[in-house]
Amino acid sequence: MNLYSTKNRSLQVSLEQAVLQGMPADGGLFFPLQIPRLPDDLFQDAKKMEFPQLALRVARILLGDDIPGAALEEMTTGAFDFPVPLIPLDGRTAVLELFHGPTLAFKDFGARFLARLMAFFNHRKGRELTVMVATSGDTGSAVAQGFYRVPGMKVVVLYPEGRISPVQEQQIATLGENITALEVAGSFDDCQKLVKQSLADGELQRKRPLTTANSINIGRLIPQIFYYIHAWGRLEASRGQKTVAAVPSGNFGNLTAGVMARRLGLPIDRFIAATNSNDTVPRYLRDGQYRPLPVRVSIANAMDVADPSNFVRLLELCGSDFHGMAGEIRGYASPDEAIRRAIHDVFLQKGYILDPHGAAGYIALWKFLEGEGDDWRGFFLATAHPAKFAEIVEPEIGRAVPIPERLQAWLNRPKHAVALPPAYPALKEFLLSSR
Ligand SMILES: *Cc1c(COP(=O)(O)O)cnc(C)c1O
Repeated sequence: MNLYSTKNRSLQVSLEQAVLQGMPADGGLFFPLQIPRLPDDLFQDAKKMEFPQLALRVARILLGDDIPGAALEEMTTGAFDFPVPLIPLDGRTAVLELFHGPTLAFKDFGARFLARLMAFFNHRKGRELTVMVATSGDTGSAVAQGFYRVPGMKVVVLYPEGRISPVQEQQIATLGENITALEVAGSFDDCQKLVKQSLADGELQRKRPLTTANSINIGRLIPQIFYYIHAWGRLEASRGQKTVAAVPSGNFGNLTAGVMARRLGLPIDRFIAATNSNDTVPRYLRDGQYRPLPVRVSIANAMDVADPSNFVRLLELCGSDFHGMAGEIRGYASPDEAIRRAIHDVFLQKGYILDPHGAAGYIALWKFLEGEGDDWRGFFLATAHPAKFAEIVEPEIGRAVPIPERLQAWLNRPKHAVALPPAYPALKEFLLSSR
C-alpha cells in the first residue's frame, strides 16, 4: 500500500513510512493512493469466518505487498484474541460490541494492531521510537496497553486533567516502565495540538525520534475496516434489505474506516455520524458549512471533539464533495439528556445496558430508521463497555453494572503522572530531558 499526503498528492510514501511517521511533515494526513476492490466471495465468506481469519484475509489483500503473510498472521491472531459479537436487539437492529479487548473499548483494535505493525517496521532500524498520543480517554489507555513492554518502543500519553474517567486515568497513568503519562491543564484539543507541534518539530525529532498512534495513524484505521465486514456478515438479511451503520464519533476515525470498507466493496448503504453535543459534522452534513465551536464537555466524553482530525480523510473519500458526502452519511447529535434517556429506556425495554457512546449510536440509528421503510435494517457500534461509565449508567438503570475482572484489576494501582501546562515549550523540554 502506498499513501499520499492530503495536503500534497505528489508527496507519496510506503506503508512503512506512513506507519512509523504517523503524519506527513506538511500537516496533512496519509491516505491510500489506491483502494482496491475486495472480491465478492469474501463478503459471502465473511458470514462463516471467525474474526481473526477474516481480518487476515482482508489484511493480505491490503498489506500483502508490505508484510509477509506469516507476519500478518501473527499480527491478526495476536491483536484480535477476544470475541467480537453482533447482538440482535430486535427485528431491525443489532449492536456490534467492540469492547471485549483489554481496555474494554474499540480502540483496542486499532492500538493492538498498530503496536504490532510499528514493532515489525521499527525492529530492523535498531533505534528507539517514542509514540506520542493525545487522548480524550480511551485512546491513551488502548495505546499504552498495546505498546506496554514492547521492546524499542516508548509511549508518552497526554490527557486533559479532570476530563477523563477515573478508570481511564488508571489505565494510562499506572503502567510505568516504557509508558509515561502527562496530565495537561487544558482540553483534549490542547493535548492534540501539543502532539501535532511535537511531531512537526524537526529539531526535536532529530534528538528524539517521535511518531503518533492517534487515530490519524493509518495503521490504526486499517484494522477498524475489518469489523464492518464482520458485522455485515453476521447480520440476518432478508432479500433486498438495505443496511445502515450508526457510528458514535469523536475524531471520526471509526466512521472513516467504515466508509473505506464501503469503498472496498462492502454493501453498506448508509452511515450515520452519531455525535454528542459536539455537533460540527452533523451541522456540516445539513448545510455544507464546516464551523467548529468550542469543545463542549459531555457524558460521552471520548467524543468531546469539536474539530475532528479525520474529517479531511472523510472528505478525501467523498471526492471532496459535500453533496457526495451528504448522500451517503447522515449526521445526528445527541445531547446528554437524550443519551441518559436512551440508556434508561433500552434497559427497561430490552434488558440491554448501553454505555453513553453506544447510546448516541443507538439514538441516531433509530432516528434514521423511523424515517425509512421496513426495507432498512441496521446496526450501531458499542464502542465502550458500560462498566467504564458506571457513574452515568447506574442511576439510569437503577442497579449496579457488573465490573469485568480485567477492569477491576486496574483500580487499586498507584498513579504516576507528570503535570504539564498546555504550552509547547514545556512539552519539548520534558521530551528532551526525559530521554
Ligand atoms: C474514541 C472513542 C469514540 C470516537 O471514535 P473516533 O474514531 O474518534 O470517532 C467513541 N466512543 C468511544 C468509547 C471512544 O473511546
